[in-house]
Amino acid sequence: MSSQRLSILMYHRVLAAPDALLPSLPDIRRFDRQMALLKRCFHVLPVTRALSLLQQQRLPPRAACITFDDGYADNAEYALPILHKHGLSAAFFIASGYLDGGQMWNDDVIDHARQAGVGPRALDRLLLELKYLPFEQRQRAARAMAPPRRQELMLCSPQVRALHAAGMEIGAHTHRHPILSAMPDGEALADIQQGKTALESILQAPVTLFAYPNGKPGRDYQQRHIDMARALGFDAAFSTVAGSAYDGSDLMQLPRFTPWEPDRLRFLLRLLAQRRVAV
Ligand SMILES: [Zn+2]
Repeated sequence: MSSQRLSILMYHRVLAAPDALLPSLPDIRRFDRQMALLKRCFHVLPVTRALSLLQQQRLPPRAACITFDDGYADNAEYALPILHKHGLSAAFFIASGYLDGGQMWNDDVIDHARQAGVGPRALDRLLLELKYLPFEQRQRAARAMAPPRRQELMLCSPQVRALHAAGMEIGAHTHRHPILSAMPDGEALADIQQGKTALESILQAPVTLFAYPNGKPGRDYQQRHIDMARALGFDAAFSTVAGSAYDGSDLMQLPRFTPWEPDRLRFLLRLLAQRRVAV
């Protein structure tokens, strides 16, 4: 094993302004500061390029990648201009079933919490209670509590094409974002496949990167889902296990971590601490 390490950051959203109900999500200013710091201290590479260099043991020192999960419209509206400004590239893992006007179950619950005056801790508990319900039951329960939608949260197809045209990588993240372990194998396979096919049809290009919904091995996905992803033609897949990748890492279960700290020094220290844990 060489000592080369690849840090893979995972984001979901970049907000227009801080949101007291969602304190872990960066707003534009915090994300801008994080990207500036990342650019200064790390060699940020596109995911496909980084994985190729990792396998050849040719990674530059302090190599890092940026990823986004789920496919929020703010990725194109707010994150993309900031990435551009710093000359950085990122990969976006998109759940295709919510493009063009859809909304994920967790955002239905967040809308409910906002309207009902529920605080961030109670919201986290509510999300955790619902997350592992059988898929259809979870979707129904969340939709039933949600007030009417006021804005489109997720990307539309032209925005996906715009991200791609801007040099960003687009990866699949299933169609409906189920917990794969909690659904019959046939449905899981179909959902992973549908997510890939839908994005390929939007982009008219192959989609070879995948991120497991929720992403915890043994709980959210199993070995059989790794085999499905490989059989469907994905070259690399990402979990949400914290740590950094090294040249012996399983390319179908690459670790990532969320740099959630609001202040710059802690963000940097967390990045560096993650590099000591090889997965
Ligand atoms: Zn996700």
